Amino acid sequence: MAFTAVELIELKRDGKKLPSEGIEWLIAAYTEGDVPDYQMAAMAMAIMFNGLDSDELAAWTSAMLASGDTLDFSDMSLPKVDKHSTGGVGDKISIPLAPLVASCGLAVPMMSGRGLGHTGGTLDKLESIPGFEPRIDKDRFREILTRHQLVLAGQSDTMVPADRQLYALRDSTATVPSIPLIASSIMSKKLSEGIDGLVLDVKTGSGAFMEELEEARQLARTMVGIGLESNVETVALITSMSQPLGNEVGNANEIRESVDVLRGEGPEDVTELTFALAEVMLELGGVHGGRERLEEAIASGAALQKLKDVVAAHGGDVAVLDDTSLLEVADQQATISAPRSGFVTGCDARTIGVVATRLGAGRERKEEDVDHGVAITLLAKIGAEVSESDPLAVVHYNDEAAWVAQRERLASAWTIEDGDPPPHEDLVMERIDRSQI
Ligand code: URA
Repeated sequence: MAFTAVELIELKRDGKKLPSEGIEWLIAAYTEGDVPDYQMAAMAMAIMFNGLDSDELAAWTSAMLASGDTLDFSDMSLPKVDKHSTGGVGDKISIPLAPLVASCGLAVPMMSGRGLGHTGGTLDKLESIPGFEPRIDKDRFREILTRHQLVLAGQSDTMVPADRQLYALRDSTATVPSIPLIASSIMSKKLSEGIDGLVLDVKTGSGAFMEELEEARQLARTMVGIGLESNVETVALITSMSQPLGNEVGNANEIRESVDVLRGEGPEDVTELTFALAEVMLELGGVHGGRERLEEAIASGAALQKLKDVVAAHGGDVAVLDDTSLLEVADQQATISAPRSGFVTGCDARTIGVVATRLGAGRERKEEDVDHGVAITLLAKIGAEVSESDPLAVVHYNDEAAWVAQRERLASAWTIEDGDPPPHEDLVMERIDRSQI
């Protein structure tokens, strides 16, 4: 049966069901370049509004997976477990987490993405390490994984090419926050990795694509369902993204903060979430020892050494991990000060993420490069008591005009109130696993 992109877009625009063969054809034709970006953008927008039912979602995910190569490490004896986040601000967790669990006896064939919308991407952060090359072919992927039990790769041209194209397209057409598009994007990449287990960090709150807890639950259940259907034991943690994670937002500075976590000197929230996700990964891989084993891997330096080894394997300059002051920093610096005294009751992750993107830490068009040295260093987060004119953040930027345009918006990220300190909000809010599907 022959399809045309226009007919399929019309079906979805009108809230009708897409035939599985139509989905297969569309994704294959898009990957081949026979369906142009503007038609796929229209389809993505129609899906944003009208969704995909479970049959359509299964067909969409399989078609994305079938668009490229899949990896098979069934000959490797170590359990293969990975993690993926739905995206947040200051979310550098993969960078300390992956080497931490790899140093405890798991194999982690991690394939990450670039920044999306106002959220940062692990690949952009890793590329602030001079020389780091995330795009490797299948053979090199296997070589690095076998040698180091860890790979920190981007999608090569041959792995889930449909997602690589669609991900960048969605980023520049405001079509990111859709449950089926996020679920199929994440799960097609993860299922191509040949893993046995997967932990998903599903963010909720102002800085997340799923701002409401109920939407985050739905996304988590959808992805856990896709994983289990494909025989990958999948667990999701729903975690708060109402304020940025850690104190650094911006690519090179987030590498610095990740190294701090692996030295046992990281901020409390980043360390807590790294451990929470790591414990689930050990559980999924059947590795005993839990928290104690993870703490030992940090204290002994094994986890940091694992990061250095894998960065070197990807061609990265390890000297910047030994001395993180060598990482890039933007030339200009400005401070945001508290307009009044009181308790910080809000530190809006989305606003901070948008400003970081506009200053160059992320992209507004898919062909843009990011500025690795741009950063917002947070000095006061929710719960902090501040006096008038205390510094709330230091901003590192290169583009003066962009900074002037964003200054007020950034200052609006903080809410400072009189009275009692705000109530504590749990970072890890819920766990979704096979028992809830
Ligand atoms: N991360 C992904 O890999 N894809 C999305 O769509 C959102 C977050």
